[in-house]
Amino acid sequence: MRQSKLFGQTLRENPKDETSVNARLLERGGFVYKNSAGVYSYLPLGWRVLGKIAGIIRKEMNAIGGQEMFMPALVEKKYLDATGRWDVPVGFEVKGKNEKTADFVLGWTHEEVLTAIAKRYISSYKDLPFGAYQIQTKFRNEPRAKSGLLRGREFMMKDLYSFHSSEEDFKNYYAIVKEAYFKIFEQCGLKSFYTVAAGGNFTSSNTHEFQVLSQVGEDKILLCLKCEYAENKEISKLGDGDKCPKCGGKIKIENAIEVGNIFPLGEKYSSAFNLQFIDSRGKKENVVMGSYGIGLGRVIGTAVEVYHDDQGIIWPKNIAPFQIHLIELSAKDNLAVKKQAEKIYEIFADKGVEILYDDRADKTAGEKFADADLIGIPLRIVISAKTLENNSIELKKRNKKAVKLIKISDVESII
Ligand code: ATP
Ligand code: MG
Repeated sequence: MRQSKLFGQTLRENPKDETSVNARLLERGGFVYKNSAGVYSYLPLGWRVLGKIAGIIRKEMNAIGGQEMFMPALVEKKYLDATGRWDVPVGFEVKGKNEKTADFVLGWTHEEVLTAIAKRYISSYKDLPFGAYQIQTKFRNEPRAKSGLLRGREFMMKDLYSFHSSEEDFKNYYAIVKEAYFKIFEQCGLKSFYTVAAGGNFTSSNTHEFQVLSQVGEDKILLCLKCEYAENKEISKLGDGDKCPKCGGKIKIENAIEVGNIFPLGEKYSSAFNLQFIDSRGKKENVVMGSYGIGLGRVIGTAVEVYHDDQGIIWPKNIAPFQIHLIELSAKDNLAVKKQAEKIYEIFADKGVEILYDDRADKTAGEKFADADLIGIPLRIVISAKTLENNSIELKKRNKKAVKLIKISDVESII
């Protein structure tokens, strides 16, 4: 991609109405555009990052038998009436211009919708288990939408739902999803802690959150520094400095961001919708369910909160919008630099390497460097009259200070 053609420019100043680091850097870098409080557009750069995360999630969800599907954003009242969730205050009610009352809510979760769908296809134990997921926009009227992508009022979520013939089968799958979640966050560059959390109003069992340590996290977790056992403060009886109940290690209280969570749903939804199956002895039973969420925008916001410096974002490799940022610094009278830069760009582009090429003629070296730091692509290549004198390019990692000269003839070897 040529930067001269990129839709979305960097901003020198922090947007006035943003207080969180992730929103400031993402807006300044040209990744997102804030339309309203908690409502963001993804510009091409940001959409690439989101696509990377979606790709990682899809790969891991498919690997555990999840089947991707897509459900509506408009959720009719009858669905939430079935479980008494129509009046939950996070919902945005929707009504037609000429209608008096709202018959729809913008979907803020999809347990009811999928349970109703599943009813058509499940009748026997032979139809179970299965898991279906979507990556879809959720709408929640969050009262505190001030943390940029960490808490949107409109945001992308991956929601997986699983259906089982027994509690035991559900539990096995829950453990499998847990491992898949660790893999997802690790590939996104995030170290996550599996945290025991409140039971919610679904079942007597606890739910579990995947928490990433960050000063700006809204959650507090009590974390064992030795075995990594963690409890959310909301439910924990532990205190800072206590002994870990699992290993005797030292418990520390930490701020953290919940990037994902997994819920045992028990029979709450199956009983509400009468979703039953005939077991192997001919007896009718309620289906046992689980639900598993990840906020894609929240993963982006978390990555930025964890990986940045004063100059800008430092993307983890797997979710970076591009792998290489090629910068050419040609003086007006030196066509050789420009020509060589074009050549290098073509070499990588032809190989399918994701490369952003700063070919802008109207920017100074200082401006180009500042933009590269702000955008945060892992590897920077600079070609200038000076490097060309040595038949070289200059290589720098975004997360390192050191620069290295590489012969142009060896340039392909860097990937
Ligand atoms: P929180 O406790 O942060 O309000 P939640 O427990 O209500 O979130 P779920 O309904 O389980 O979250 O949603 C699953 C995942 O979706 C969360 O783990 C989080 O990653 C993401 N998520 C939830 N709410 C938001 C939001 N307002 N903006 C962005 N991501 C969100
Ligand atoms: Mg939560």
